[in-house]
Amino acid sequence: MAKKAESQWDGFSLKPKKEMPAGLWLKCPGCEQTLFKKKVTENLDVCPQCNYHFRIGAEARIKYLADEGTFEQFLADMVTSDPLSFSYRGTKYKERAKAAEKTAAGKEAILVGKAFIKGRPVMLAVMDFNFLGGSMGAVVGEKLSTAIEKAIEDSLPLIVVSSSGGARMHEGVVSLGQMAKTSAALAKLDDSGGLFISLLTDPTTGGVTASFAMLGDVIIAEPQALIGFAGPRTIYETIKVELPEGFQRAEFLLEHGFIDMIVHRRDMRSEIARIIDYCGKNPA
Ligand SMILES: [Zn+2]
Repeated sequence: MAKKAESQWDGFSLKPKKEMPAGLWLKCPGCEQTLFKKKVTENLDVCPQCNYHFRIGAEARIKYLADEGTFEQFLADMVTSDPLSFSYRGTKYKERAKAAEKTAAGKEAILVGKAFIKGRPVMLAVMDFNFLGGSMGAVVGEKLSTAIEKAIEDSLPLIVVSSSGGARMHEGVVSLGQMAKTSAALAKLDDSGGLFISLLTDPTTGGVTASFAMLGDVIIAEPQALIGFAGPRTIYETIKVELPEGFQRAEFLLEHGFIDMIVHRRDMRSEIARIIDYCGKNPA
């Protein structure tokens, strides 16, 4: 469609063709068509041609998931203490983290807060891939654990949206400790009879998959999301084995019983609301 519009313009004007401003068009990795970015955004960042679900940051995710203006964030200012005084190729981790704030929705790779979804009060935690690949360090672990504790206190359903490259290597074993910390907090939520809906988006990998992301009472994934522990490239480079077609994609995981359902982004709010009601966790 985009190409057609362009050729029509050529016929009407002899002026030199203006270059499109950067970022106005994008190419869909699913169908390889050139798409008008505005149309994609209006469609919740899903390709109108082939339903490819684009990766989105935490801000857009909250916008698409929560009732408008209801997200009340807490612990927004928590930043890493850089427990290992880590630096990589001449750049200090703290400086990298500070720089990452410019591309991300907040000061860390997760945003936590109370919100409403179709009128149902929830505790919402949304990872942000735009902050150091959505990696889990001590701050992500602490913010998520606090959100879980508050969900227990206030008897709120917990919704966690994962979008992560895994544990944050800049924090070494401290980042791995967050797997146990968040899993222990979820065990308490489970003991209290709470509901945890885990939403896996592209990509959900590493220590996040190996801990809280796969512990949901109900595990939902977006279509075609990459979900796994080690990524396909790492597996191939380590054991030199070609993986089956579609391995680690949401559809493959559903077929093999690792997740409960795949839901289109436009239906996510309704589906989560339905699960909350079905589980009897809607106090209204
Ligand atoms: Zn497409």
